[in-house]
Amino acid sequence: MTQQRLCILGATGSIGLNTLAVVREHPQRFRIDVLTACTNVEQMLALCTEFQPRQAIMVDDAAAQALQQQLSKHKAGAAIEVRSGMAALSDAAGSANNTTVMAAIVGGAGLAPTLAAVEAGKRVLLANKEALVMSGQLFMDAAQASGAQILPVDSEHNAIFQCLPHEAQQLGRCDLAAAGINKIILTGSGGPFRELPLAELAAQTPAAACAHPNWDMGQKISVDSATMMNKGLEYIEARWLFNCSAEQIEVVLHPQSVIHSMVSYADGSVLAQMGRPDMRTPIAHCLSFPERIDSGVAPLDFMALQNLTFAAAEAERYPCLELAIKACWQGQWATTALNAANEVAVAHFLDGRIAFTAIAEVCAAVLKQLETTYATQDVNSLAAVLSVDEQARASASEFIEKNYSC
Ligand code: NAD
Ligand code: MG
Repeated sequence: MTQQRLCILGATGSIGLNTLAVVREHPQRFRIDVLTACTNVEQMLALCTEFQPRQAIMVDDAAAQALQQQLSKHKAGAAIEVRSGMAALSDAAGSANNTTVMAAIVGGAGLAPTLAAVEAGKRVLLANKEALVMSGQLFMDAAQASGAQILPVDSEHNAIFQCLPHEAQQLGRCDLAAAGINKIILTGSGGPFRELPLAELAAQTPAAACAHPNWDMGQKISVDSATMMNKGLEYIEARWLFNCSAEQIEVVLHPQSVIHSMVSYADGSVLAQMGRPDMRTPIAHCLSFPERIDSGVAPLDFMALQNLTFAAAEAERYPCLELAIKACWQGQWATTALNAANEVAVAHFLDGRIAFTAIAEVCAAVLKQLETTYATQDVNSLAAVLSVDEQARASASEFIEKNYSC
């Protein structure tokens, strides 16, 4: 067993901390090379003194200075190199010092460092779905060119990966039909507002949107789960990872979050991956693949399970899901724009400046506006992706300013 040296992008977040919880149990398998965070000095200080990384990066300059100061007071932290800024993230992700990168930054901010890891041919554990949604083919092409091994951390994609035959586990290039697969089935809980009367959706608060019934996650993905934009982003993620056509992906509501996704085969067999809704399971699977290690998650207790139920996602309740599925087949401009508009809208919703139902309105308006420019253009370079991203963010902010400012 060769020891993996890990760079954890987004170490202080929900996925970052769950990754470190698994790593903590297997000190001989993993060594922490780099930890990164945005602004949370206190959390980073605790992680640095415990895991002793070679390098710690805070995106924020003032936070990096504060961390450096705190570490210099600790015997266990004085040797850790502290860096700051976005460029340091990409340097660290592509550095020869690590073998494996956990991409767990939230949102488009994760694109550059995740791509740096992919281009450097690392083993990339992909949680940051927005990076793939924004860059699609470019991301998968970069992985093929460098030989990077992408492993999906997102529980649905991890479940599907586990249910695929070995020859179809070639992410980005698998031929589902040749492997006897009819469909992949993405399951989603439907979030906290699944049964709420539609008329009450507009008045829902950020706290209510973040109170997910089954999963404990960061704020942005929690809101995305309530709108089901998360399932939409996952639909796009699945399209790239598993090389699917529209006929080969289906979304099914499964409120209990016990089945994390399924693969339906030509002979009528359906393989499902099950487990508790705890991200340490897919994280441990990716960390140790192809071996299996203890994740710290208790086994599923079938006697305690009641019903496993399934339903279709209602279009009126989840317009963001509809927008994402449409954008997936409109082209790269559309998924990049949708992701950017959603990030801006969710940030405004979390700040209490727009209603829950405005998130979908903002996304729809931005897609409509950018379609006139991009419907006939190829977005096939990083510069073009970043330009669409910037325009979509500006368009979203403008739309919000014009329509919702009080
Ligand atoms: P989070 O908000 O809990 O943590 C985000 C991390 O990214 C933090 O360490 C933060 O410091 C860092 N970060 C935030 N903004 C940044 C910026 N501008 N530049 C650099 N770093 C920044 O988020 P999370 O819930 O851990 O989600 C992380 C990613 O994993 C997301 O893309 C999410 O969709 C995906 N994911 C999360 C879960 C989950 O259970 N939390 C499940 C599946 C996929
Ligand atoms: Mg998921």
